[in-house]
Amino acid sequence: MVLIFDRGTGKLYHARLMTAQAINVPVINSLDFARKAQEFRDIIPLLRFSRLGEYLADTDGALEITLIGKTDMSGKPAFHLVVQGVLKLVCQRCLDSFEYPLDVAADYVIVTSENAIPSPDSDEYDDEVDYLVAETQMPVIDLVEDEILLALPLAPKHAENECGGTGRVELEKPSPFAVLKGFKAGKSQND
Ligand SMILES: [Zn+2]
Repeated sequence: MVLIFDRGTGKLYHARLMTAQAINVPVINSLDFARKAQEFRDIIPLLRFSRLGEYLADTDGALEITLIGKTDMSGKPAFHLVVQGVLKLVCQRCLDSFEYPLDVAADYVIVTSENAIPSPDSDEYDDEVDYLVAETQMPVIDLVEDEILLALPLAPKHAENECGGTGRVELEKPSPFAVLKGFKAGKSQND
């Protein structure tokens, strides 16, 4: 069951649900969600994130999501998103999996159109936030997944002291020469 808490009215209500690919993750009207100061909290299984899968060593587990609608200090509709949990990534040094703690917090300002996004050199532009164009049917999971993908390390690796790899994974495949040497050695032992 997915509930949205309306902090303005103090009411809880059932969110509209998407079917199929994102069961149990609501679709929101982004301007309404911000203006009514609504709040969404849930624990979403990793399997629900279709684009994230290719980066994961294991899709077991879940992430805790909090999306808060609010009005920012200058009166603009805004979101605050927090995503927390643990991902199992593949170490690029040793190719073993390791646990990567994810703790992402992001702020957004909702604008009514692309044209309303302030240009990066204007005074109005705030580089601490992302600008989102308002949608009447915004799947929360898409916003969450974008933010997770941005937070992933480019080359995930164990901490130096926890890694069993040499940093030369791609060179560890035996060369034809080494295989031949092994073959000869084995042969001479058998002789
Ligand atoms: Zn490693």
